[in-house]
Amino acid sequence: MATTRVFVLVAPPGSGKGTQGVLLARRLDLPHVSTGDELRVSLYGGRLSQPNGAMGRGQLLDDNTVWRILRTRLEQPDCSRGFILDGFPRTFRQVCLFDEWTESALLGAADVLVIYLHLGMDEVRKRNDGRRFCPSCGRDYNVHYYPPRTPEVCDVCATRLARRADCVPEVLERRLAAYEKSTSVVLNTYSQ
Ligand code: AMP
Repeated sequence: MATTRVFVLVAPPGSGKGTQGVLLARRLDLPHVSTGDELRVSLYGGRLSQPNGAMGRGQLLDDNTVWRILRTRLEQPDCSRGFILDGFPRTFRQVCLFDEWTESALLGAADVLVIYLHLGMDEVRKRNDGRRFCPSCGRDYNVHYYPPRTPEVCDVCATRLARRADCVPEVLERRLAAYEKSTSVVLNTYSQ
């Protein structure tokens, strides 16, 4: 069995992990699999939908739900050579579920590289404050780093830009707390 190349991106919310994931995917010709996107599509009907419930509140969803949805995606034929994982694993239990799967489904033939993007929390808050997306065509912007030509309007389709519901300050703080708590566990596990 050929080796499956797995890249795991670990970074704070809104730090550009999705952008880097897409670039890496293009460069390596592997699919970019974002758990946030997979969950939004599977549970809320579309990548651009604004979730409510635990996800809208910035809390992590339960491990079994996340893994059930992600596993279905990873078992698609385009992931057989490898994939870029963006947003998973985020808990120790998710690391274990993923490990068990690579052992059983991939017969241990996975080459896993973890890439950790480290950013200061002030920078993370600024990036999240500037984050916008076009609800019509899906293009991403950041008003501080890559703003649209006309403020708050999409360059491509002229739709008014929106903010992700989970980027408002109180929800963001919850996501950052969840990130800090869970990431240390994930990084410690992988560094061993
Ligand atoms: P993201 O787009 O990666 O920032 O994820 C958006 C939201 O999806 C998170 O705030 C969580 O509610 C949920 N989510 C994404 N990935 C996971 C995961 N691995 N485990 C639990 N919840 C997740």
